Amino acid sequence: MMQVRRVAVIGAGTMGAGIAQVSAMAGWDTRLTDADATALPAARERIVRNLSGAIERGKLDTDARDAALGRLTLSPTLAAACDDADLVIEAVVEDTGIKQEVLARAARAADPGALFATNTSSLSITAIAERLPRPERFLGLHFFNPVHIMKLVEIVVHPGAADATRDE
Ligand code: NAD
Repeated sequence: MMQVRRVAVIGAGTMGAGIAQVSAMAGWDTRLTDADATALPAARERIVRNLSGAIERGKLDTDARDAALGRLTLSPTLAAACDDADLVIEAVVEDTGIKQEVLARAARAADPGALFATNTSSLSITAIAERLPRPERFLGLHFFNPVHIMKLVEIVVHPGAADATRDE
């Protein structure tokens, strides 16, 4: 069973910011990247606001918030975010071609055994997998909005995925 240590989240919009937040809260070294550099500080601000809200409601203490924020890095490039990552989660715009291009670049930068996931809502996982260098390590991880509230992830497996990819 793979031990996740480092997570790369590509796309720092509504979903990517939420996924990065729960990843950092889960104790994983988390790197968030976006093609639009202005999206990164905005995502961090949203995460800080969410965590502050949790503190106000008595659900989190400041040490846990600071530790989670310490595990979150804003990476200016996709290559820097994916370097040595063992789990890459793509949350860019809902477009098969853009997702394929982003995931192919991620596969070149990440750890050779890394898992690659898309957060697509409606696109075919099988179609996205067709253009990926390591389709056997690819799956759908469909988070729900708002990610830090919805404790649910739908796992979507395509026919070319390895059994280990589903089980890990
Ligand atoms: P969003 O528009 O809020 O964020 C998308 C981000 O991707 C933007 O910051 C954009 O700059 C970035 N981006 C675009 N092209 C990029 C590229 N080539 N490289 C790096 N970054 C790029 O979108 P969202 O609502 O967060 O949705 C993201 C994905 O999650 C979509 O596939 C969507 O279908 C899915 N999803 C959305 C929801 C929802 O309720 N919003 C729920 C579940 C799944």
